[in-house]
Formats: sequence, C-alpha cells, structure tokens
Amino acid sequence: MHDILALKDIRSHIEDIDIRSEFKPVKCKDQRKQLCCMYCITCEILVCPKCIAKTHHTHVMMEIQTVCQMKVEGMKKMQDQAHNKVEKFIEKLNLMAETEKLKSNDIEQKMLEEEKHGREFHSQCLRLLEEHKEKTKRQFERLSKKESEVLEEETDIEMVMHQVENIHKSKNTEKILGAVSSLRTNWSHLSR
Ligand SMILES: [Zn+2]
Ligand SMILES: [Zn+2]
Repeated sequence: MHDILALKDIRSHIEDIDIRSEFKPVKCKDQRKQLCCMYCITCEILVCPKCIAKTHHTHVMMEIQTVCQMKVEGMKKMQDQAHNKVEKFIEKLNLMAETEKLKSNDIEQKMLEEEKHGREFHSQCLRLLEEHKEKTKRQFERLSKKESEVLEEETDIEMVMHQVENIHKSKNTEKILGAVSSLRTNWSHLSR
C-alpha cells in the first residue's frame, strides 16, 4: 500500500489549544476604559458591567469563558468531521491507486506473455522455413540426379539404335544373326 497523502500531515490544530485556559480580556467597544465581563446571548456581543447596567440587564447572559469553550468545541467538531472526510477520501484514493496498479500489472503480464508467444511463433516459423528449404534442396538434388540418369539412359538408347541401323545397313548376314544377342545384352544393361 503506497499512500498518496500521509494522514499524519492533516491533524487538528485546535487540539493544541487547551480549552480550560483563560481567554484574553477584551475591552468594551462603548466604554473604552472597561473590560468585558459577560457575553450577551440576546445581542450576541461582549458586554462590560456598565453596558449591562445600561442596556442588557434584562438579556440572557453567559460567562465569556463558557461561550468561548462552546465555540471552540463547535469548531473542533467541525474540524473532526472535515478530518474524517479527508481520511475517507484518502482511503478511497489509495484503494483506487491499488486497483489501477493491479490492473496495470495484469495488462503488463498479458503483454509479456503475448510477446513471448510471438517470439516462440516467430522461431517456429523460422525452423519450419529452414526445414522446408532443406527438404526442397534434397528434392532438387534427387531430381538432378534422376535427370542425369535419364540423360545417360537416353544416350545408351541412341547408341543401341545407331548400332541396329548400322547392322541393318551392312546387310551382313553374320552380323544380323549375332545382333539379336548383343542387343539383348545392351537392353538388359539399360533396364537395370
Ligand atoms: Zn460596556
Ligand atoms: Zn444584550
């Protein structure tokens, strides 16, 4: 598993603030010399004792510290929610990356196999071609051998034919009588 984002980099900053610690005193906007002592919930502002006496004495009040703590807790809750969302998003991203990696590995593997098959097929083709060439060569050799044999035989036949013609022309009785046996010897030599 390889993280796209490291979760440790995304952490709540509000966690660092101690909720129980004192918040800085605030000067009243209307009475510059006065410090605010309460928070008026009705008006949603900080108020000093003079302002309370003058305007806010019937309003709903709350301790500044308590309001601040509530606000901080609210912010913390929001930040936690955001953090959870980011966490889930990162998990999803990592899962997607992992799936993509697996897919990519699978494709790579298949391509390698195809390439291997291709190479095997290629060498098989070369081997068959080589065999075919060798076979053709041997066949050609056999044919030329046969051809020279036939040529030789043809020469022999021509020779016999010539002999027969000569004997016939000579009108020599003895030769004609002896010719049959000598020709028979030659024929038997030819048909070996
Ligand atoms: Zn005031
Ligand atoms: Zn008020």
